[in-house]
Order: sequence, then structure tokens, then C-alpha cells
Amino acid sequence: MLVFILNAGSSSLKYQLMNPINKEVLAVGICERIGIDGVLTHQFKEDGKIKKEISMPTHKEAIELVLKTLTEGEGAVIASINKIEAIGHRAVHGGEKFSVSTIVTPIVIEEMRKLIPLAPLHNPANIMGMEICQDLMPGIPNVAVFDTAFHQTMPDYAYMYPLPYEQYSKHGIRKYGFHGTSHFFVSNEAQGMLDKKHNTRIIVCHLGNGSSVSAVLNGKCIDTSMGLTPVQGLMMGTRAGDVGAGAISYMMTQEGLSIDETLDIMNKKSGILGISGKSSDLREVLEGMKNGDDKCRLAVEMVAYNIKKYVGAYVAALDGIDALCFTGGIGENSALIREIVCAGLDGMGLIIDPTKNNKRSSVAKDIATNSSAARIFVIPTNEEYVIANDTYKIVSAL
Ligand code: ADP
Repeated sequence: MLVFILNAGSSSLKYQLMNPINKEVLAVGICERIGIDGVLTHQFKEDGKIKKEISMPTHKEAIELVLKTLTEGEGAVIASINKIEAIGHRAVHGGEKFSVSTIVTPIVIEEMRKLIPLAPLHNPANIMGMEICQDLMPGIPNVAVFDTAFHQTMPDYAYMYPLPYEQYSKHGIRKYGFHGTSHFFVSNEAQGMLDKKHNTRIIVCHLGNGSSVSAVLNGKCIDTSMGLTPVQGLMMGTRAGDVGAGAISYMMTQEGLSIDETLDIMNKKSGILGISGKSSDLREVLEGMKNGDDKCRLAVEMVAYNIKKYVGAYVAALDGIDALCFTGGIGENSALIREIVCAGLDGMGLIIDPTKNNKRSSVAKDIATNSSAARIFVIPTNEEYVIANDTYKIVSAL
């Protein structure tokens, strides 16, 4: 089965064409600057690549262009769009309504619309992607795979904020968590890599531009670091993560900031970028640290320290640990961050092997010493595969 995977953002659109049965990826690409001018980057076959600037006034033109590129000219990988048997959409916020992936129906779209206040940038773009696909490819089933779904198993004492209870009952204010497809994929892989098959206690550190940690007991999420929105938890590329409410209100007063301006600072100008003053990209900040930039040093130490604190908290939440997993651009590639996070955690049964940690690998690996009581895994994430596979399973059962 060929699944077209779509991740529609406010001004961008990522796509893949994948066969979930053998995990073969036929094409992968991104449309950027939608509504501004438009750039398509399309990769296909072994090393085929097309990049072109082309007008994309809306997501509709962008999706039309992608379908054309997949079927015509140099970048074509299928003879016609009829070869696409299902479409899997990354959907950001499923609230409490969606705890599993689901076939897209008018009712599902209506429910997603009700959740727009919780994800004002993402859900409208996701809905738009679904409606355009229904329009351009009538009769082909669409499936929504939610970023929040995997975290719906959290117990109430973990997902509730200690605010007045009616803030939850009236407005649904609670922790939801994100990056669910990655946390599911990596924890599931880790479970397969462990000798132990019962009472598995796994911590997943998904560390990319956006970062989150989750605690997974027997395959079910019991806690995660992001909250009602992705701005909570770890310090990220541009997001602040955990900051006291008093500090935020004080900053607003001192700077005369509105709520929107404050959220803009906390989402787009904080984190690694805000501290280093250099970049949101960890590689550049590591380079700056090497060259003696003290703010870059501070940003790197803060990133690692924040992750380590969550690891400690989640070892306690899980009553121990069997595997600590690193994934995402930083988790998979930065041996230094992994080294700082794991340093001194021998008492928790986590001993990192420096040689294994520093060896590069594109496949999952165990970087703990043989004597370490718990495993430390580096596992490349594959969120697109989770979307394609969920889509395949749901569509096959129709
Ligand atoms: P996204 O969340 O956008 O999918 P990624 O998972 O690709 O992001 O992660 C991007 C982050 O990974 C950036 O901060 C980048 O600097 C970092 N990264 C990628 N490669 C390395 C590396 N070799 N060493 C350190 N950081 C890296």
C-alpha cells in the first residue's frame, strides 16, 4: 500500500510517499513559504533532488504542485495519483477527544475545529490539508494521526495542573503533551531491544528544535514534559520551557508586553536562541562554546541540565528505569549532550560507555556499559512511519 503522508503547518507543508509494509520511502519533500512566494524541495530515488521557486498562494496550490511533482517530470515516482491508496495526516492537537488515530470524517473535522483554541497555529493548517486532499483526491481515505494521542494514558494526577478545578472542567486546561508519534515509536523500539518484556520502565528524550521527555510504563505514557501547548517543559531551540508564572508576569509589567508579545518571546525568542544570542541551532552554539563564547557555554549547560532534571524526576515517577532513550536531531547526534545528561547517574543504574557514545551510527544502538543495570539507547525516530503504519492499519480494516 502506498501512503501519502502530509504534515501541514501554517506556511509549510512536509510530505512523504511511503510503503508502510516494507518502510520504503519513494519521495520526501517540503513546500516552504506558502502564501509568501513558494519553494519546493523534492527528494526522490537514491539521490534525486529538485528545488524550485514557484508561486504557492495557498496550501491548495502547494498540494497540487506536490501531486504533480510525484507523477510528472524528472521527480516522478508514480504513474498517477491513483496509485496513492491512503493519506495520513499529522494532526497536532487531539485534546481529550482523540486517544488513537482515526479516519477523517466531517465529525472528526468538526471536533478538530473545536480544538483550534488549544492549537491556533497548527490545527487550522492540519484541517486545511485534510479538506484539500478530500477535494483533490476524492474517494481516497484520509487518516488523522494526533501528536497528543500517545499521552492520553497519563493518569489524572500527572496531567492536571494545580489550578482551580473548574479551569479543567470549563476549559480543558491540563497537560496534553506532544511528539506522541516519536515517543511511541522510540519507546516501542526500546521495548523490543530490552531482554525484559514486562514492567518495562522507559524514558524517551526527544531532542530536536522542539524537545520533550516522556515516561513510559509497559508501553503506556504516564507523564510527559510538554503541557497544554508545546511551550512547557525542556528548554528548546526557541521555546523557553518551564518558567515561573511570577517571572513571566514581572517581565510583562517591566517591558509593557501584551499576552501575544509575551508568548511570541517565549515561543520564538527564548531557549537556546534567547540564552546564546547566537542561534537556535545547537550545532552553531556548540561551535560558539568551542570558540570561548560564554553565553553559548551557558546555553549548552542549561539544555543538558534541564534534560537531566527530567530524567531524574521520571526515574522516580516510574519507580526505576530499564532504558533511557535519546532521539531527535540533538538526541541522535550530540554525544556531548548525552554524556552530560548521563554523567553521575550511576546510582540510578545508568552508566554510559564513552567509546560507544562517541561512535556514530545511523541505526539504533546501546551506549551503556555492559555493567550498567539499565540500558541507554540512541534510537533514530521515525514519525512518518508511525503515521503511515497507523493509516495502513485503519484503512485496511475499513
Ligand atoms: P526538528 O524538531 O525541527 O525536527 P531536528 O530533530 O532535526 O529538529 O533537530 C534539530 C536540532 O538538532 C538542531 O538544534 C541541530 O543543531 C541539532 N543537531 C543536528 N545534528 C547535530 C550534531 N551533529 N550535533 C549537535 N546537534 C545537532
